[in-house]
Amino acid sequence: MDEILKKSATEQHKMIAEKQISATELTKASLKRINDVDEKIGAFNSITEEIALNTAKKVDEMVAAGEKLPLLAGVPLALKDNMNLIGSKTTASSKILENFVSPYNATVTQKLLDNGIPIIGKANLDEFAMGSSNENSAFKKVHNPWDLNKVPGGSSGGSAASVAACEATLALGSDTGGSIRLPASFCGVVGMKPTYGRVSRYGLIAFASSLDQIGPFARTVEDAANLLEVISGHDTHDSTSLDIPVEHYAQHLNDDIKGKKIGVISDLMTDAVSEDVRKAVEHAVNVYKSLGAEVVEVSLPKLKYSIGIYYILATAECSSNLARFDGVRYGHRTSNPENLIDLYCKSRAEGFGDEVKRRIMLGTYALSSGYYDAYYKKAQQMRRLVADEFNEAFKNVDALISPTCPNTAFELGARTADPLAMYLTDIATISANLVGIPAMSVPAGFDSDGMPIGLQIMTPQLKESDLFNFGYKFEQENDFYKQFAKDVCACA
Ligand code: GLN
Repeated sequence: MDEILKKSATEQHKMIAEKQISATELTKASLKRINDVDEKIGAFNSITEEIALNTAKKVDEMVAAGEKLPLLAGVPLALKDNMNLIGSKTTASSKILENFVSPYNATVTQKLLDNGIPIIGKANLDEFAMGSSNENSAFKKVHNPWDLNKVPGGSSGGSAASVAACEATLALGSDTGGSIRLPASFCGVVGMKPTYGRVSRYGLIAFASSLDQIGPFARTVEDAANLLEVISGHDTHDSTSLDIPVEHYAQHLNDDIKGKKIGVISDLMTDAVSEDVRKAVEHAVNVYKSLGAEVVEVSLPKLKYSIGIYYILATAECSSNLARFDGVRYGHRTSNPENLIDLYCKSRAEGFGDEVKRRIMLGTYALSSGYYDAYYKKAQQMRRLVADEFNEAFKNVDALISPTCPNTAFELGARTADPLAMYLTDIATISANLVGIPAMSVPAGFDSDGMPIGLQIMTPQLKESDLFNFGYKFEQENDFYKQFAKDVCACA
């Protein structure tokens, strides 16, 4: 592998600006890497070579003309395949959208292009972002670069794996209940979900609109902070996007955290957490204490309801959002329907996978008139109570920490037969989506099998700069982020 691919985005960008390497050379190195290893990993649904090289060429022209480069210009990025990019298919890893060509650019995509960030391909995911292991893709599974027999986490498994395997230096994912943070933790990279509304969802294929948020993947906290800056901001195309100025998120990375108060969520440090993961969080606690932070225990008793609340609200929203894929307005159409109803039924039956069908049925049931009060309304009320509990906790602490997941990456196939076990993988991540707060997973060590462990950090709404500050201070005290996935390094 070309050694430059191991460098951080910030370093790569600097080398381009200083003419040590051209954006075209770097993009080509990335494309070659995909060519060499992606057959084993499965991180990409499609490669957008032409788009990437066109962007790189523009960056090189700017360098030649002596112009100042925009943030992260020239650094190769993988885009989750549920975000539109003109000139590419956007499949959401579903058979129903197998041939859907992006009609317009998502706002985030446009921002990447405007910043000269070469988009090298569309990253594999669980179908419609529903899943925790990336085994629900209609096309192929993603393999964890640290151990090809294990899952990369989901649903943004392709985004996380591509960064872990140095195929891409940066990636975007979407997070509805943990889909950025969980794969980041399983693949040993940084993954961050912003405050709800910080990043425009325009052009993202909607799963659960009140929870979905796009966010960055990177190998360092600094890179993630810079990428968030590129994609953030108000957008008139998304009425839920916040009209608040974008900060320079990397500005406070190195601020002193002496005297800051951090809460360890005791409800996420139970016996259900593996020994290695618990030790990693305890190590993080000691690191923060050594940096002068005060660490206290915080109990959030309502957190245990978050999975139940999520699987009512997310399924209800998805049953409504996915109604448009009917073979008429969008998506696969069955070949010989007997009548219109038959066309709808067969197109959807043929196009959607089992997990998506399960969610649509659950959500339709929860929204049906006889059950609305018992399920949907109750779940909304509980969502409020969980949010109240978090907001109350933040009156006393600056950040909350926990494992990103009680366990590390599991074997492919280990949880596919048991949806409940799969759903429980997200026990630590889902509440940040219910509450709308920013949250990040940072590499925090390795288990006895050498698989990465993630530390989750959460801060109050719009406190992204603090979140990156806490993440960076921890990262810099360790060398976890300097280690690379061995399986893939070996196979290249
Ligand atoms: N794993 C969760 C689910 O299956 C969350 C997915 C996500 O964040 N998109 O719904």
